[in-house]
Amino acid sequence: MDFHICLSGPCSGGGLVAYSEVRSSPGVYADAVQGDIKKKKVVVLGTGWAGTSFLKNLKGYQYDVQVVSPRNYFAFTPLLPSVTCGTVEARSIVEPVRNIVRKKGLDVQFREAECFKIDAENKKVYCRSSQDTNLGGKEEFTVDYDYLVVAMGARANTFNTPGVVENAHFLKEIEDAQRIRRTVIDCFERASLPSVSEEERKRILHFVVVGGGPTGVEFSAELHDFVHEDIAKLYPSLKDHVKITLLEAGDHILNMFDKRITTFAEEKFQRDGIQLKVGSMVIKVTDKEISTKERSTGATLSIPYGMVVWSTGIGTRPVIMDFMKQVGQTNRRVLATDEWMRVEGCNSIYALGDCATINQRKVMEDIAAIFNKADKNQSGTLNVEDFREVIKDICERYPQVELYLKRKQLKNFVELLKGSQGDVEKQLVELDIEKFKMALSEVDSQMKSLPATAQVAAQQGEYLANCFNRMEECEMNPEGPLRFRGSGRHRFRPFRYKHFGQFAPLGGEQTAAQLPGDWVSIGKSTQWLWYSVYASKLVTWRTRVLVVSDWGRRWIFGRDSSRI
Ligand code: FAD
Repeated sequence: MDFHICLSGPCSGGGLVAYSEVRSSPGVYADAVQGDIKKKKVVVLGTGWAGTSFLKNLKGYQYDVQVVSPRNYFAFTPLLPSVTCGTVEARSIVEPVRNIVRKKGLDVQFREAECFKIDAENKKVYCRSSQDTNLGGKEEFTVDYDYLVVAMGARANTFNTPGVVENAHFLKEIEDAQRIRRTVIDCFERASLPSVSEEERKRILHFVVVGGGPTGVEFSAELHDFVHEDIAKLYPSLKDHVKITLLEAGDHILNMFDKRITTFAEEKFQRDGIQLKVGSMVIKVTDKEISTKERSTGATLSIPYGMVVWSTGIGTRPVIMDFMKQVGQTNRRVLATDEWMRVEGCNSIYALGDCATINQRKVMEDIAAIFNKADKNQSGTLNVEDFREVIKDICERYPQVELYLKRKQLKNFVELLKGSQGDVEKQLVELDIEKFKMALSEVDSQMKSLPATAQVAAQQGEYLANCFNRMEECEMNPEGPLRFRGSGRHRFRPFRYKHFGQFAPLGGEQTAAQLPGDWVSIGKSTQWLWYSVYASKLVTWRTRVLVVSDWGRRWIFGRDSSRI
């Protein structure tokens, strides 16, 4: 399945020439659109990191774009934990989608609705108007597409633990953060009532966070700062009753970070009085108690709580599960795409961000196929230059392979990969294909799926938009650049993720950062780096100004504890 097949299609060459004329002359464009040329319909599902990045980078003159999402805004999720305690206001981190596309001058229709079924066979999506609005009503409608971009994100994963949905708070959406903020204040107001017993007061002021990943850790740190910097002044009699507990099923918190960060965070939490319970698996949540199973002793404990925040990772949305069944991906947990973001088994459907993952096994199968050619090469059916091109391509696509080979000191291969001058024929004879294959299968087991982060989602959105923008050019050069010899020609380079590092805010104006090259930085100066990176990453100047002024307001006046 080649990319050019998906992106070309029925549009005629004549039509494409007309498009380029249209582009240079906007007046002609409108007439032409109403005349012969029918723009391809692109439907985008979701206005999160992936969908918005796609829309921001798309040059829409080629397409009739429709966006369907239950939220008419983009939310800057890395600042959601700051919203839970009023460090930043909810409205400061959202930008209306209509604003984003209007500024781009795109030809885009937005529908505030959720997609509940994708019909890949008839190229249709079934939608229902958002149930969250005050307008009531649940109108259903269908939208046809030529290309579908699925960027619906994921839902919170409860691992089917009883009582979580009913009793715990999640931290995925703006509404979740607002709800948490209100509940925190509620707990303090209820605990202040004279009729409440001492024991009950302790329970109400016990905040439990489940999941020691970046979100759980950041929320615990935010809550701790809020309690100690603001609440302690407003509710002085209650401050000694407050308890924050972080439950983690594994051995450590922040286990995706460098060990130095994990250790620093654990020690800091201990100093701050945040109770950290590792090896503690939640098995049930009722309205007042959490039951855990302790790995070390096997004992079951019941922990009374006032508020619980559940942050144990993400799961697949039901609509995506249903779609996976339709396209024969029943044995997978996440929707699989190839490296060009195409859903496996579908020609015109792309999936980005948290709702999908690039199927690395398929990638390694591709490599194996290429090496079958290399085998042939040894028997003289493929020439050296072909082989060199194939190897270069592998290294371009999979930097991990090259790194791995270097580490294994397979220097001949690496030189060959780099295309260095030298006696390539000789190197080729020396090449032990079997050994190389074994090395690759080890790489295979080491290659992990990309993390579910905003960074990945945004880069995928930008990548796909750039491919769509070049569609016209590709139509005009149907052969496209020849990247692979023989079968498997790809118009576009496959998606390659660039990791820019990750932050873990730990409270008290201290942040840990793990930057590319495994460079670790922890402390107050890193907090300033965090401020500047996040301020620069906000999607518009409006949100940037609002967030920076929220930070300033918090420094001067403290956080607002009104329950509104
Ligand atoms: P989302 O951004 O979740 O967008 C999904 C979109 O689909 C939304 O607009 C949603 O309304 C819409 N949608 C949902 N259902 C439907 C439907 N049925 N039909 C149509 N549309 C639908 N990542 C980082 O890189 N750095 C961080 O610091 C960071 N911090 C985070 C903090 C928190 C609290 C959270 C929750 C996440 C954080 N992440 C961070 C992860 C990051 O937010 C996600 O990886 C990212 O949002 C994924 O982007 P997405 O577009 O796939 O999904």
